[in-house]
Amino acid sequence: MDLSYSPADEAFRAELRAWLEHHLPAGWGQPGFEMSAEERKAFNEGWPAKLFAGGWICATWPTEYGGKGLTTMQGVVLAEEFARLKAPLRADFFGDTLVGPTILQWGTEEQKKEFLPRILNGTMRWCQGFSEPNSGSDLASLKTTAVLDGDEWVINGQKVWTTGGHHADYCFLLTRTDPDAPKHKGISYLLVPMHQPGVEVRGITQPDGTAEFCEVFFTDARAPKDNVVGGVNNGWKVANSTLAFERGQSATTGHRRFEEEFRLLREQAEATGAIHDAGIRQRLMQYYTKVQILKINGLRNLTSALNGSQGGRRDTGTIALGATNKMFWSEMHQRAMELALDIWGAESMLIDAGLASGSWPGALRDKRRQGYPVSPMMSSFFFSRSETIWGGTSQIQRNIVGERVLGLPKEPQVG
Ligand SMILES: Cc1cc2nc3c(=O)[nH]c(=O)nc-3n(C[C@H](O)[C@H](O)[C@H](O)COP(=O)(O)OP(=O)(O)OC[C@H]3O[C@@H](n4cnc5c(N)ncnc54)[C@H](O)[C@@H]3O)c2cc1C
Repeated sequence: MDLSYSPADEAFRAELRAWLEHHLPAGWGQPGFEMSAEERKAFNEGWPAKLFAGGWICATWPTEYGGKGLTTMQGVVLAEEFARLKAPLRADFFGDTLVGPTILQWGTEEQKKEFLPRILNGTMRWCQGFSEPNSGSDLASLKTTAVLDGDEWVINGQKVWTTGGHHADYCFLLTRTDPDAPKHKGISYLLVPMHQPGVEVRGITQPDGTAEFCEVFFTDARAPKDNVVGGVNNGWKVANSTLAFERGQSATTGHRRFEEEFRLLREQAEATGAIHDAGIRQRLMQYYTKVQILKINGLRNLTSALNGSQGGRRDTGTIALGATNKMFWSEMHQRAMELALDIWGAESMLIDAGLASGSWPGALRDKRRQGYPVSPMMSSFFFSRSETIWGGTSQIQRNIVGERVLGLPKEPQVG
């Protein structure tokens, strides 16, 4: 593992620092910097256009499709500099991180020309239509169908837990296109417009007032025949590429939000005196150690990417790193948020204790229910419960490591 950066990468870092300093609001990142709800709203609305003008969204994509063609290391420096200042680097998570790279890998030339520019400039928002009421971990059992009718697919079925479905312009949808084929073989990956009469979206509101995900009903919805990515009935392979992108994010920056969280936990433990409790001290140090392991594993991930083992082919080492990393950080974070509750004590349960202000790394902002203003820390606690579920549960990651990496016998099928 070579931890040094080349002079060219350092020059690129300086260029980025100058850009960020010029474009972020004055005082950003300085102690005590705060934005009102209106200021944050205005910032969130204006920022994607600035990112786009700077060419920073998906900047590692090839120039022919609107990227900057950055090298992997330049992409790392870019992520590091934005993470250092906590400046958002995305227009739309599902577009930039999941379906965009999938279209780059599997899409036709026409699909790349049609969809990638609108992902890059942030004018097309996406949602992921994989899970169904009876098909989550066992995704290949999905029942939503698509049948060809002339030049269009006609889609019927229901998806669930569709994050951002109520804002999305398009859905990357897994559908069954050959009901007679074995379950992994008859699936296609379809790009479906959301704004049409055959698509009904119902938000699912949670106790803290957020309604991030939805149920989506397709009743004779339509999509152009040419919107299949990676070939008809080849959707399982294409979907696995998308899931690998989802699990393999932010090699060298993923630990940063946890470092910040550790700092906040320690600060509060010192303020309340909890730091003198032997159990709390142990758990704090366990958390710190795990964050360091996460950091080192990120560097291992980067090394394997630079050595070319994360190209199109997914070797067992890459699969093992992706799966262990996902279960490691999500389980670590749940323990950390349980520790947060113990440090704050009963105060963390009060909704009028002045806790509803401030910020917490990774917490959803400005979406809390009026009259039940849970603190950003509690919001992060709630969300941590979902982190061992989305993107493939911890149990499924263990099955992947056991069966595909270690070659252990397959678990018996029940039912
Ligand atoms: C915050 C959040 C956002 C999400 N966003 C999206 C989205 O945008 N689009 C989308 O398509 N989906 C989304 N999901 C859904 C997510 O992918 C599924 O919840 C997940 O795949 C698990 O499926 P399930 O909920 O049906 O649980 P199930 O598959 O029913 O699992 C229930 C329990 O059984 C365990 N289990 C199941 N099978 C096995 C097995 N073979 N071996 C051992 N244990 C097993 C699981 O680990 C789990 O603990 C989201 C989920 C969350 C929590």
